[in-house]
Amino acid sequence: MHELHPALQPHFETVLSRNPAEAEFHQAVLEVLGSLGPVVSKHPELLDMAVIERLCEPERQLIFRVPWTDDQGRVHINRAFRVEFNSALGPYKGGLRFHPSVNLGIVKFLGFEQIFKNALTGLPIGGGKGGSDFDPKGRSDREVMAFCQSFMTELYRHIGEYTDVPAGDIGVGGREIGYLFGQYKRITNRYESGVLTGKGIGWGGSLVRTEATGYGTVFFTQEMLAAAGQTLSGRRVVVSGSGNVAIYAAQKAADLGAHVVACSDSGGYIVDEAGLDLELLKQIKEVERGRLTDYAARRPGAKHVADGSVWDVPCEVALPCATQNELDGNHAKTLVANGVIAVAEGANMPSTPDAVRVFQENNILFAPGKAANAGGVATSALEMQQNASRDRWTADYTEERLRQIMVNLHNRCASAADEYGSPGNYVVGANISSFLQVSEAVVA
Ligand code: GLU
Repeated sequence: MHELHPALQPHFETVLSRNPAEAEFHQAVLEVLGSLGPVVSKHPELLDMAVIERLCEPERQLIFRVPWTDDQGRVHINRAFRVEFNSALGPYKGGLRFHPSVNLGIVKFLGFEQIFKNALTGLPIGGGKGGSDFDPKGRSDREVMAFCQSFMTELYRHIGEYTDVPAGDIGVGGREIGYLFGQYKRITNRYESGVLTGKGIGWGGSLVRTEATGYGTVFFTQEMLAAAGQTLSGRRVVVSGSGNVAIYAAQKAADLGAHVVACSDSGGYIVDEAGLDLELLKQIKEVERGRLTDYAARRPGAKHVADGSVWDVPCEVALPCATQNELDGNHAKTLVANGVIAVAEGANMPSTPDAVRVFQENNILFAPGKAANAGGVATSALEMQQNASRDRWTADYTEERLRQIMVNLHNRCASAADEYGSPGNYVVGANISSFLQVSEAVVA
């Protein structure tokens, strides 16, 4: 990250004072502004047009109460959010996160990231994000359904295929999108497929959407390695997390000849030197909703480690696919000492600013999340296209569209980095390229 350009400093201070106690949001804003020095020098008029203020202040922020009853008949109250951040390029688009850590600052960081990520896809989607502090862990299907129906009973009036199109994120997958879509349809009496993405394949969902974020991260990694004269084949890979991003990043990396040896969940991590058995992992995580301890118990030779960090496992390619700030400066130093050559973020902002600095100082190829994990939302936009045209594409065609989007996205970041004097710096490339695209639309 570059020093903040002096002309940007007052704008950042305004963000700090206007949004107290939103550390993740501040971090995400600083990450973008930190790349914009050369843009401000070349286009000072953008600051006169209040572009920074216009991008940092969400167009609309919704906070609502979600009452629901558990299986014992007890009433619970959760807090929910939808931040409709920016619609310069298209309807607000971005996921819903159900996790106890969700608060307004987290949703704003994610929504802010989403503006730029969505711009990078080259598709007509604005940025938004939502979620709730509801914890689905340990809840029955009926409890999750009751929560989703109550959540949608408020949210439905704010969304629509031309307005705001939510999807999944942590804690929101196919099951939750099904409950949410059912309630939307029932309340509005409209079969409006394009109002949500990540739907089931039988009722308006897109093939490859589940796999898309992880696949996209690996397609980006492939391009980044190729630009440096390297390949993924034969590389030792570690992913963090074991949700759909991690599983399908591991899958695509393995398909391309890499050796994926570790992944993690909130209870620790597993190391499987023979290479992860992805069918077993999918069975445990997707079907049984189980833990990685189950994987170690059922797979000879695999070892479960309850404490420490998955980043202690030596690898050449690291794919953080769990959550924000999961990889800090010390983890980054360990990875560098163990010979990492490339890091690509499948999650949103998983590396702390210190970690990014360590990677960049050591000339490690580094792909920031807003570029490397854009394949998920890009495929959501492809789902919207299929819904709008009442069509259904094949898996091969959809995957090829995704691959092409990631290749173009990589090239867009690489050329912006070249043009603004930081060749090979994908952080600068992603931030500048998307900032210019969104700013031009805002000003227009
Ligand atoms: N939650 C995903 C993301 O962080 C996907 C959003 C979507 O498909 O709208 O980009």
